[in-house]
Amino acid sequence: MNRKSHLLLLCLLTCVQLQAQTAPAAVTAKALQIHNAAIVVDTHADTPQRFLDENFDIGSTDPKDIGHLSLDKARAGNLRAEFFSIWVEPSFKGQFAHRAVDLIDSVYEQTARHPDRMMMAFSVDDIERARKQKKLAALMGIEGGHAIENDIRLLREFYRLGVRYMTLTWSNTNEWADSSGGRSHLEGACNRLPLLIPRPDQRPPKHDRRHAA
Ligand SMILES: [Zn+2]
Repeated sequence: MNRKSHLLLLCLLTCVQLQAQTAPAAVTAKALQIHNAAIVVDTHADTPQRFLDENFDIGSTDPKDIGHLSLDKARAGNLRAEFFSIWVEPSFKGQFAHRAVDLIDSVYEQTARHPDRMMMAFSVDDIERARKQKKLAALMGIEGGHAIENDIRLLREFYRLGVRYMTLTWSNTNEWADSSGGRSHLEGACNRLPLLIPRPDQRPPKHDRRHAA
C-alpha cells in the first residue's frame, strides 16, 4: 500500500468512526493504539463559518465551548489533518465566490494566528510534514458547486488558493447539478459535468458527489 492509499484508508476509517459515534461503544486498548499510531484525517469541518461570523479562535481553551473542533481537541484526539469546509449559504446569491474567498481567508488567518500548532497543507507531503512538526495540517474543500458561480476559472482559482475538493452541490440545486435536497431540472445529477472537468494535464480539485441527486 503506497502512502496515498494509506492516507485514503485512514480517511475511510475516520468516516466509519464518525458514523459509529451514534452508537457509543467501548474503545479497546488495541483500537486506541491503532488510532494513536495513525495519521487521522477528518474530511469535513464547518468551523470556518465560526471563524468568520463568530470570531471563533481555534486556539480557544474555553471548556464551555460546544464546538467540535479546537487545537486542544484535535491534539487530544490525535487528529492530524482537517479539511475545513468552505460552505456558502445559498442566501449569499450574487456573492457566492466572494463569501467563499472570505471563508478561505479565515482558515489562513487562523493558521497565521497559531503558527506553532497549525499549518496550511496542500498535499500528502504537507500532511506528513505537519505530523513531524506536531502541527495540525489545515486543508480545504468547497461544499457546494454554486461557489464557483458557473465559472470554471473560479474552480482553478480556488485550487490555487489551496482548495483540494469540491462537492457538486450542497442541499441546493445549482445551474449545472441537481441536489438531492433541491428541485430537479437536469434529468440527473449533473449532465453538464463533462464541461466542468478540466483537461487531464490540469490538476483541479476533486469533485465530490455528496448531496448530489
Ligand atoms: Zn458542511
